[in-house]
Amino acid sequence: MVTIEHWIGGEFTAGSGNRRGPVFNPATGRQQHDVVLATDADVDAAVTAARIAFETWGQASLSKRTKTLFNFRELVNARVKELAGIISDEHGKVLSDAAGEVQRGLEVIEFACGIPQLLKGDYSDQASTGVDVFSFREPLGVCAGITPFNFPAMVPMWMHPVAIACGNTFVLKPSERDPSASNYVAELWKEAGLPDGVFNVLHGDKAAVDGLLQHPDVAAVSFVGSTPIARYIHDEASKRGKRVQALGGAKNHAIILPDADLEFAAGHLTAAAFGSAGERCMAISAAVAVGGAGDALLDLVNRKAGEVVVGNGRDPSSEMGPVVTAAAKQRIEGLIDSGERAGAKVTVDGRGLRVPGFEEGFFVGPTVIDQVEPSMEVYTEEIFGPVLSVVRTDTVDAAIDLINRNPYGNGTAIFTSSGEAARRFQRGVRVGMIGINVPIPVPMAYYSFGGWKDSLFGDKHIHGPEGVSFYTRGKVVTSRWPHVSHAYDASLHFPTS
Ligand code: NAD
Repeated sequence: MVTIEHWIGGEFTAGSGNRRGPVFNPATGRQQHDVVLATDADVDAAVTAARIAFETWGQASLSKRTKTLFNFRELVNARVKELAGIISDEHGKVLSDAAGEVQRGLEVIEFACGIPQLLKGDYSDQASTGVDVFSFREPLGVCAGITPFNFPAMVPMWMHPVAIACGNTFVLKPSERDPSASNYVAELWKEAGLPDGVFNVLHGDKAAVDGLLQHPDVAAVSFVGSTPIARYIHDEASKRGKRVQALGGAKNHAIILPDADLEFAAGHLTAAAFGSAGERCMAISAAVAVGGAGDALLDLVNRKAGEVVVGNGRDPSSEMGPVVTAAAKQRIEGLIDSGERAGAKVTVDGRGLRVPGFEEGFFVGPTVIDQVEPSMEVYTEEIFGPVLSVVRTDTVDAAIDLINRNPYGNGTAIFTSSGEAARRFQRGVRVGMIGINVPIPVPMAYYSFGGWKDSLFGDKHIHGPEGVSFYTRGKVVTSRWPHVSHAYDASLHFPTS
């Protein structure tokens, strides 16, 4: 068993405390490592390393920063397989899915490689006679990232490549359930030539998070995780005058109209509900069948759900791995029970699944629940497991209304062959990311990612142009260089031209 340590100032350290957290392999159900949990002194050490590094990195030229980003991009690209293995062993997701997550993170690094273009300011020549006005953006200082277990490489990469490209330094507090990917990435940053202290990894739980929120040298906090914690992070960081973006949980609906290609829709719904065991913030967890689409759709989804191959993430034939912890398995199965008790029909049942050779693993099989009503707990709760609830409505407008009444607003999708219905949907839903015949509409890295309502606290979405804006602040310079021979009259009037 290895003890996973912090990465502070360019080296590993066990820190000053002796609290440890267990890290499991979800497929075997056995603890494989433990991870150090930061004390206040460790938080201070990480933030101080980042503050000192900011003195030089904050002044590094655009070309130096860009070169480092390109080096980092090459290294991550070359090590996708290694990173995917690390992710699969601690998270449980299958290798191909883990590699896909690294690929999506890589796209953010590639976006950040364009930082010289992204940071170009505006220039207005001769705004007034002899006066020019221009703008530019500066980094904030030490930025913190607090991330969830479900994308241990990609979600941190939504943050640190952009923050560092903008000239900030970074302290990442990854999930304590799958912490190793962050340490591996830290070593790649160092190999890429990033100066020590610019990127730090601080492991821990609530104590580490609270330490970062309270530290006066942390200028900005990016958070991704569940809604109650997102709200807490937003409130605590704002209260202390820090810039904050806090992305929360989700309950993503897909509407299926009778005019959709139902075979196509069912295939994509199955993938979107059960991929990564449903532990994606953009997973589809509610299928809203409109009009006559319900029965035919349900038959197709049931068949496809039953065909999903569940197994160890390392096995190339597996399509879906275990969920992350024994507690997650228990919670998910409990929510399926509650749906059944409330009168919904479990048409494909993943409870109690045992995978041969991995009998102690945290497996829940794909589950489909029909006749779910919006009042049921199985509908109101974010299940974050491989469970698809089927809800029925009579019209598109009723389906849009259902989505809008839900407190979350992360992602949503429509399956239809009607442009009119799709347009009505895209304009009518109060949700941040919308798919039209695309079930998981995660924006490309050069757009920004973020939901509405209880899925995001703060006003900036993550990565893309809003990420650059979040990690920098603007200056506008009004300048005049009068010729020595000219006498300009200063006036007490407000200058207008
Ligand atoms: P979580 O909220 O439990 O944990 C996220 C982070 O917060 C972790 O680093 C954890 O250590 C820390 N944390 C946990 N409890 C805390 C507390 N009481 N005080 C301070 N910090 C605390 O989330 P999770 O279970 O790791 O991840 C799953 C959740 O993340 C789901 O709700 C999912 O929808 C959400 N998520 C959202 C997005 C998005 O883009 N909106 C993306 C991925 C995941």
